[in-house]
Amino acid sequence: MKNELSTLSPPLGKLPLAAGKADSPAGQKPTGHESAWRAAWALQLTRPAESFALATVALDGAIAANEPHAAAWAQLCRALAGYRWIGADIGQMSVDFVEAARQMDTLNDARGKRLVLLLDAVLAKKRGRWPEALKAYEKISGSFDLGAMDADNFYLLLGLSTSHVYCGNLADGLRFGYIGLNLAQYLDLAAEEVTMCLPLGVALMAARDHDESAELFSAAEVIAARIDSPMLLKTTRNNLGVVLRRIGGISNLTRATQLVAWVLAEPAAMIGGQQFAHYSAAELYILLGQLDDAEAQLEQARATLDASRGATPLEALDGAKLNFIRGMIASRRGQVAEAITAFTEVVTLLPALSAWRFSDRAKVFEELAEALARQGQFEQAYAIQKNSSQDYLTNVDVLNRARHVSMQVREEMRRVQLELDRESRERRHLQSSHTELREQMDDATREARRLKDAAMHDPLTGLPNRRHLDEVLANMLLVASQTETPLVIAYLDIDHFKQVNDRYGHAIGDEVLRAMGTLGPQFLRGADLMSRIGGEEFCVVLIGCGLEAACKRLTDLLDVFRNQQFESDGQVLSAVTFSGGAAVYPDDGRDAETLMRVADRRLYDAKRAGRANVCCGGSDVIS
Ligand code: GH3
Ligand code: MG
Ligand code: MG
Repeated sequence: MKNELSTLSPPLGKLPLAAGKADSPAGQKPTGHESAWRAAWALQLTRPAESFALATVALDGAIAANEPHAAAWAQLCRALAGYRWIGADIGQMSVDFVEAARQMDTLNDARGKRLVLLLDAVLAKKRGRWPEALKAYEKISGSFDLGAMDADNFYLLLGLSTSHVYCGNLADGLRFGYIGLNLAQYLDLAAEEVTMCLPLGVALMAARDHDESAELFSAAEVIAARIDSPMLLKTTRNNLGVVLRRIGGISNLTRATQLVAWVLAEPAAMIGGQQFAHYSAAELYILLGQLDDAEAQLEQARATLDASRGATPLEALDGAKLNFIRGMIASRRGQVAEAITAFTEVVTLLPALSAWRFSDRAKVFEELAEALARQGQFEQAYAIQKNSSQDYLTNVDVLNRARHVSMQVREEMRRVQLELDRESRERRHLQSSHTELREQMDDATREARRLKDAAMHDPLTGLPNRRHLDEVLANMLLVASQTETPLVIAYLDIDHFKQVNDRYGHAIGDEVLRAMGTLGPQFLRGADLMSRIGGEEFCVVLIGCGLEAACKRLTDLLDVFRNQQFESDGQVLSAVTFSGGAAVYPDDGRDAETLMRVADRRLYDAKRAGRANVCCGGSDVIS
């Protein structure tokens, strides 16, 4: 058990993809009727009648359009929906199955072939031949990987669980049921989860684990309502009503009555086994002492059976149920002879009903003994009571084993759940520390950027500093050489700056420098650069610009600069100028050092020529 469940627990950190229950094999090209059968397939468990109708449309369309893949799947879908829909003809189902099997074979569709294997088992199940169904399911188990977290497995697990339960192997029924439930929950398949609750809940009831069963059906009821599946809701509510009646107590009986009333008000054609709703109602009315109402329900159960059964003989379970209710009503009305006949009939059917709830079996013996005693047949009554304890003793082992397995499995599921919870807690924790780390890293990156920025810029003017210039100049020259574009390097030096400081103060000097930092960049274009390389010295790099044009632009800057007015203590200071010297790549040199030397020399020329001008080479000094 442990192993099977462990393999079913999700691999750490790897979440399943969508269940893919209607997936076609990889590489299969979707065709026109693919979506039609997929839509039908999706409704198979929840709305079998609609699924059946849709599959029929898809099938006709696919055949007409000559789409063998869609046709095969539509055929298989119709057969599986037919199993769940009471209105489907069992003969039609087998025809669909055989045809689907043949087509899947021709297509060599591995998944289709695997599902087609369910054929015999499902047909036997539909006919109520449980041992036969069980044998078929066990036979095909080998073709499925029960440990795989795969939606197809669900059908096999459901079949195994149901047929084990109805064959009286409660422990196995519970085991496969819980694995199936786990799988459905893991794959997040709501309809499948509800469906798996049915055999499980019935097995738990049989094992007298009523509270657990009620809990399971209550949870299933919520899901069935959420996914809006009338069929699943009806089946679930019917079973929930039964188990609540069994638990007893005013509130449970009230709720059971409401549930039965709701189930009976639903359209019958949606579900197979409508008679079970009438059985439930009848038993409830007996409990409440409303014998006429119970009788009416018994009649309706008979009518439902006659309508759906056709010529097929009554199933043992239905025979037992009908007679059990008949006996109870008769006994409550004091019709002892009638009661004895009915109960005796049930006892003869018991060997064929290994899965019938043990509490029900005991009740039959008890009621029969009671009736016999009322007729004075004490010897027989005693024999029956003895029989009952014998029956109980033979079954007590099955019962105990089932409870044992059920508890074990639940424990294992809780363990897996805890592990998953712990894992998700850890994941959440990891995630938050990851976020924290990211924030720290971002902070550090921002800080590093700020530091780098600070290291590369001059705080007074905000201009890039010498370091920055050195770092990028080589690259700018490389680009210029690769793109064969001219590049001008110019030195600008403020004239008589020392005097400005001396006369007006250092603060005014600073203001002048800042003005240069504001005005200079306005004359730049694109990737041009202006940096403060020393006290009142600036370097300008102009890209894609010849010497002449550069000088023109720098002279324009000089004009603007000299028209700036600076104020200090009411004194207006104007006409601060600068001198400039420019060199151009490639004419004046090909490397930074040479170009800077030339520019520096021209700056010197400009100073010598009287300042407030830009020297661009030779003797041409533009002012
Ligand atoms: P020239 O026309 O020949 O360039 O004469 P100059 O006075 O501008 O040249 P000099 O190199 O003699 O003087 C530069 C002055 O710049 C000296 C220094 O005090 C001043 N200086 C350097 N850095 C700063 C600064 O950040 N703020 C201020 N206010 N003055 C500075
Ligand atoms: Mg200087
Ligand atoms: Mg100067």
